[in-house]
Amino acid sequence: MRIDLHTHSRASDGTQSPAELVRAAVEAGLDAFAITDHDTAEGWKEAAETATDVGITLVRGMEVSTRHQHRGVHLLAYLPDPDYPPLAAQLTRIIAGRDSRVPAMVDRLNELGFGITLADVLAASGEAAAIGRPHVADALVTLGVVADRNEAFARFLSAGRPAYADRYAAPLADMVDIVTAAGGVSVVAHPWGRHQRSSLDEASLAELAERGLAGIEVDHQDHDADARDALRAVARNLGLVATGSSDYHGLGKNDHELGVNTTNPEEFTRLLALADAAAARSGRRTPEVVNR
Ligand code: AMP
Ligand code: ZN
Ligand code: FE
Ligand code: FE
Repeated sequence: MRIDLHTHSRASDGTQSPAELVRAAVEAGLDAFAITDHDTAEGWKEAAETATDVGITLVRGMEVSTRHQHRGVHLLAYLPDPDYPPLAAQLTRIIAGRDSRVPAMVDRLNELGFGITLADVLAASGEAAAIGRPHVADALVTLGVVADRNEAFARFLSAGRPAYADRYAAPLADMVDIVTAAGGVSVVAHPWGRHQRSSLDEASLAELAERGLAGIEVDHQDHDADARDALRAVARNLGLVATGSSDYHGLGKNDHELGVNTTNPEEFTRLLALADAAAARSGRRTPEVVNR
């Protein structure tokens, strides 16, 4: 069983439609995978229809933008009812924050002398419900300013670079509660990737576990071998599910191919059991796992 619990489509900043993502998952030899676009369930319907047709197991999820101690934390939410009003309200607020910062980033790039327009970014984002910096990067590629997304982040878009603009994110602990009440389960994405280790230490993860956090993403390309070993121990100590995944973005992210990291089937079974329990307690209409 090859299971990949973190992937993106064009509903956010991946480069394939949800249907293309499902077909790519089959081609990559996955038995089960999760679609987890940033802050939206927009890709769920198309992905579920395609997964039903082709026979792969599909978990509907999303990667929610949250904040903890002034730092961004990505929270994977699996199988919540996206219409649960507190969740829907947070997603609306996050998407509004995404939309409203694009003109600020465009302005800064123009101050730097690059003739980029809001229309260029909107053309790059296409049908995406969640517009992000990768779409600004894609517009800069089209304009010939940079060669790829990586260069755009390194020169302009990463935090601290000249075209960076902040945006709203939901309080992390509140979002863990909301996901549970929506009948889903939450898993912290790449908790010790890049610069997160100082704020999301074991004590913070222990508090979140008390609060109902289901798991942590251990095997992820942003984690070196030491981080993975340490996180696996944290998961064991705290009774959290340990997941592994690619964080695939199609052509939008190098070195994140489908199935590059996978989740142990026993851990997947535990995660689904926790989701079943949350769904039953919530009384919400939660999505089924397709081809379970
Ligand atoms: P945003 O959603 O606007 O905050 O942008 C964050 C997204 O950009 C995340 O999905 C990251 O995976 C992606 N990202 C961050 N750095 C890079 C990079 N160097 N190259 C490509 N994508 C990146
Ligand atoms: Zn992304
Ligand atoms: Fe992420
Ligand atoms: Fe991601």
